[in-house]
Amino acid sequence: MTEALYRGNAYMDHCEATVAAINDRGGVVLDRTVFYAAGGGQPGDAGQLRLGPAGEVCPIATTVYDSDRETIVHVPADGAPLPAVGDSVIATLDWDQRHKFMRVHSALHLLCSLIPFPVTGGQIGAGDGRLDFDIQDAGALNKDDLSAQLNALVAADHPISERWISDEELDANPGLVRTMAVKPPRGSGRVRLVAIGTDGSVDLQPCGGTHVRSTAEIGQVAVTKIEKKGKQNRRVRIALA
Ligand SMILES: [Zn+2]
Repeated sequence: MTEALYRGNAYMDHCEATVAAINDRGGVVLDRTVFYAAGGGQPGDAGQLRLGPAGEVCPIATTVYDSDRETIVHVPADGAPLPAVGDSVIATLDWDQRHKFMRVHSALHLLCSLIPFPVTGGQIGAGDGRLDFDIQDAGALNKDDLSAQLNALVAADHPISERWISDEELDANPGLVRTMAVKPPRGSGRVRLVAIGTDGSVDLQPCGGTHVRSTAEIGQVAVTKIEKKGKQNRRVRIALA
């Protein structure tokens, strides 16, 4: 199991680590990492592993979970030189891309707070993203109104914070779970709760992704499209300005 440093601090862009294993597909497992493993609609991080200050560089194309859903695997670019088990490396992520994921991800929480219907799916990109809502009457959704509401929440500069609650606390508050497609990770006995606004006044839900510290850091954002995807599904797309 890999220590996921981004869960405690999403702003760490590098760390020192030791190579714990190379899996059968050439993926690199470290004892600890700042690289987010793909999940919950957020893509895995890219970046590089460097063997020492002047050492060889292994470019990382993406990051995924192994089949145990706990071990984080850094997937090297094709033909990249691989470190050996036991090597010390400096793992540095593509911060420009990651910060865009964090801004889009945080903006999708705001979108979720504005549309009071169950979320059935979502996808985050470096600059844009989408959420799917289980909603029959799409007439209730207006692109320009939603854009204005989103930017008002951005301008208000609400703090974004994270805390852990027990599985029992989550079970006692089923209304916290807005996303039907992405169940909060269970089994460890605790769940990470992401709050926007003081005490979660804007949005409060379990989430394992990476977010910015306050809504102003998202910057200007726009709802670019509202699409009908099936009888009861509306796809709302947003983009950073
Ligand atoms: Zn989130």
